[in-house]
Amino acid sequence: MRFRKSEGRALNIVCDPIEIFFLKWSDFVEHLGRVINRFIHQYSGISMFYGPKRIIFWMVFCLSPIWGWCQVELHVLGVTQDAGLPQLGCVKSCCVHDGKPRERILVVSLGITQSDPKKGVLIEAAPDINLQWQQFTKINREIEPSSVFITHAHMGHYSGLLQLGREARNTKGVAVYGHPTLTEFLQRDQPWKQLVTLKNITPDPISMGSLKTIGELTITPIQVPHRDEISATYAYLIKGPSKTALFLPDIDKWEKWDLSIDSLVRSVDYAFLDATFFDETELPGRNLKEIPHPTVRETMERAKSWPMSVRQKVYLIHFNHTNPLLQKESAAYRTVIDFGFQVAAIGNIISL
Ligand SMILES: [Zn+2]
Ligand SMILES: [Zn+2]
Ligand SMILES: [Zn+2]
Repeated sequence: MRFRKSEGRALNIVCDPIEIFFLKWSDFVEHLGRVINRFIHQYSGISMFYGPKRIIFWMVFCLSPIWGWCQVELHVLGVTQDAGLPQLGCVKSCCVHDGKPRERILVVSLGITQSDPKKGVLIEAAPDINLQWQQFTKINREIEPSSVFITHAHMGHYSGLLQLGREARNTKGVAVYGHPTLTEFLQRDQPWKQLVTLKNITPDPISMGSLKTIGELTITPIQVPHRDEISATYAYLIKGPSKTALFLPDIDKWEKWDLSIDSLVRSVDYAFLDATFFDETELPGRNLKEIPHPTVRETMERAKSWPMSVRQKVYLIHFNHTNPLLQKESAAYRTVIDFGFQVAAIGNIISL
């Protein structure tokens, strides 16, 4: 007996157990469809589950996991400056609430997934890499990252490499890309040298002007002026099959750079930019000349002449614990959003 749902099911006598199964399954799908339809209709006024739209919806619904696997996606895994939040020794309201340390906000890091999960990329080895590695592996179909790109040798950007060593994950040959001064330092000085000797990591220098292709991704380094005590500093241009993102978490000042941030932002689709300090009042007692960064106010001043479509490409990131942009309720946060910039948050996903 053929199953014909629309022809007065109550009049049919069904004995075949397979048919009973399909009837029940069909009822379940229909019921689920109606519930979702009611929900969508309530909020958008669109009715999805009648006529051909219904078939299209279920096709998209069933194929969406496969579609997701085919995408190149950039995931924000951390947003704070090198020391994270709460910061050691800080007892101000930025780090302490009701006498207790505030919940940790992880240090800046990005993860990139693509259709081949064996080519998962981590950008930065932050001090919070243990949590970020785990999170990345989860979104990368349970496959761990095979390479790490590092911008420079300041605490928040490379110290997480220690977690790949013998005392911790004991990885095998994770490729570590960076400026030649960074990879030389890792090969020369302990405790990094041991990671190289034990083949936990394989440092691989990328020089200016060259690029690295990993699956569907092309990553190009751009040198930026920044306190180069241990290594020089790179920003990275991350190019996927359809979009390009600039990742530039640390720079001393825009004016010190021989490249123009204005034209660089215009040339990409997304720009993750240094937003360490909102303004110069944040660190009383510290000489900001020793730790120069363009403040968010300075960057906004520069971007005044940019059209809204260009400003909207900017995702501010690398926030010091004192930066009011870490609080969504702050006036600074509102000002930045009204200006057209985005404030990067852990969990942001961008399709490249
Ligand atoms: Zn930094
Ligand atoms: Zn603090
Ligand atoms: Zn730095």
